Amino acid sequence: MSSINRKEFIKKSAAAMAGGIALSYGCGNAEEKPSAAVSGKTYEWVLVTAWPPHFPILGDAAEKFAKSVEVMSNRRMKIKVYGGGELIPALETFDAVSQGMVQMGHSASYYWAGKSPVAQIFTAVPFGMNTTQTYSWLYYGGGLDLWKELYAKFNLVPFPAGNTGGQMGGWFNKEINSVSDLKGLKMRIPGFGGNIIQKAGGSAILSPGGEIYTNLERGVIDAAEWIGPYHDWLMGFHKISKYYYYPSFAEPTGMIELIVNKSAYESLPEDLKEIILQASSAVNNKSLAEFDAKNTEYLEKIKNETRVQVRQFPEEVTAAFKHYASEVLGEIRSKDELSARILGSYSKFQERIKFWAEISDKLYYY
Ligand code: CA
Repeated sequence: MSSINRKEFIKKSAAAMAGGIALSYGCGNAEEKPSAAVSGKTYEWVLVTAWPPHFPILGDAAEKFAKSVEVMSNRRMKIKVYGGGELIPALETFDAVSQGMVQMGHSASYYWAGKSPVAQIFTAVPFGMNTTQTYSWLYYGGGLDLWKELYAKFNLVPFPAGNTGGQMGGWFNKEINSVSDLKGLKMRIPGFGGNIIQKAGGSAILSPGGEIYTNLERGVIDAAEWIGPYHDWLMGFHKISKYYYYPSFAEPTGMIELIVNKSAYESLPEDLKEIILQASSAVNNKSLAEFDAKNTEYLEKIKNETRVQVRQFPEEVTAAFKHYASEVLGEIRSKDELSARILGSYSKFQERIKFWAEISDKLYYY
């Protein structure tokens, strides 16, 4: 840029900035709403979570988010956080926020498959993209706009607000050496993973977190999938299982959402909207870092301090999971126009980013 051009550029930028500031304070428009700072209006909101109260990392993320919003807004916005079941049952989070009973929820979209099967895509896709690739799709590949379009039908605005990173395949008391070992397998596994197990001839059982241990111990189920080494250790599964299989064919990432009632959100001044965006983005990044750090530590503990055998699924089994996954996704895709568009966008992005990942990330794994 020549010096004259640079001068013009700076002049224009300064003019644009001044215009922007005038607008944001409403000086140029009599109908512009005064900002909350001017009106002094305060907001007391409620956030319900789909996690048990004080659930490690994810429950903490909701608390940290609320605290950040309060501090950043100079206490103009206070958010009271309730764990699942404290105010409403965990799995009613979506309805409670959608209907405006509360303003916010912290949860995972795959719990809402009953509302819209394609919603599950925004948690994880079997054999889909990993966490950083999913972030690329959401923020720079149109994914977040599609998520907003889907949730607008339910009067909700979604924000990425946490991530478990890659998960584990699960705890098994039955050895999995071939596809035929999946026949009759009773496994606690939700979402797409459950669909895949069923197609493979097993049965997917949806027991709440609190019942998994007892069911596995008593042999009511042969296997159970939960999250990863850290949370699984806290559940005690290593005490009652023989094998810990990897990888999670269903959850190569685990996106967590903040959902906000759309009407309530739209009533907020611009600065509070921005604070919600930034505070949710901060917990989104930090929780992923915490998951990876803790999972590293607890996988070592499982390998060194227990008799559990940590095993990879045999190639033949992984190939079968992959085959059934494509059937499951094909069924979702054919449901309606928006589902086709969401899955189309996701698959196209995954296909394109694969080449970059092959020659970048992948080659750094020694
Ligand atoms: Ca899981």
